[in-house]
Amino acid sequence: MHWNVGKVKITKIVELETTGSTRFILPLATNEEIQKLPWLIPHFASEEGRLKMSIHSLVVDTPSRRIVVDTGLGNDKEGRKVPTWNNRKDPFLETMTSAGFPPDSIDTVLCTHLHVDHVGWNTKLVDGKWVPTFAHARYVFGKTEYEHWRDHSDEPDKVAVFNDSVQPIIDAGKAELVTSDCKPCEEITLIPTPGHSPGHMSIHIKSDGEEGLLSGDVAHHPCQMAHLDWSSTADSDPVQSAATRRELFSRFADTPTLVIGGHFDAGRIKRDGDAFKFIV
Ligand SMILES: [Zn+2]
Repeated sequence: MHWNVGKVKITKIVELETTGSTRFILPLATNEEIQKLPWLIPHFASEEGRLKMSIHSLVVDTPSRRIVVDTGLGNDKEGRKVPTWNNRKDPFLETMTSAGFPPDSIDTVLCTHLHVDHVGWNTKLVDGKWVPTFAHARYVFGKTEYEHWRDHSDEPDKVAVFNDSVQPIIDAGKAELVTSDCKPCEEITLIPTPGHSPGHMSIHIKSDGEEGLLSGDVAHHPCQMAHLDWSSTADSDPVQSAATRRELFSRFADTPTLVIGGHFDAGRIKRDGDAFKFIV
């Protein structure tokens, strides 16, 4: 599945897709409430009002760079809170390769934030050691985000994620810590979008007069465009995350900007009363 923004091609590589069982992340998005938002159905929710979501990477191919945005759950990881996120044995790298993106062809990895489902494939297990999966890539992490998880990974599952998927990249000398508003290449500018996590960043693409936005986890699902205050249980600051949603969606609403989420597919944001909706 792919989209074009000017000369930039964006390809989604799926690791995991789900319908329903999302109450743990968005408790307010009940089936009844979702059915009141018919524009979500059938693309983003089932007829019964169950949310459709995915864990995926986005390969962003620009004229000068080949970037992987967010790296899913990874294989062989342990200590995860969600049982099915442990000890996975997915052919994710094979899927990437057959889509035309062998891991060695990636020159940049960019993590919108450093949560468990966005950093997994940063590393792979080789002879009992976590090594960078993308051997020829520099890994771009937000400085604020990195320092937060370095200093505040207090719970065991957070420690596990940091130790097996983030710190090995730093130790291998492959990481570049950036400010949340930097410009990693000609077509791409980062936008600071804190709230879901302290140093969360979104990715603004501009090429040949066209624009795209990779919003990361500013919203886990388009239903949060209608209900800006439906913060996810994973948001570090629910009030700030709601304010960030309003600010970011206001900026791109009613423009031709192609928007792709960290856990949902492409669409365009439209104003709808005091909030927004998302149209494929
Ligand atoms: Zn997240």
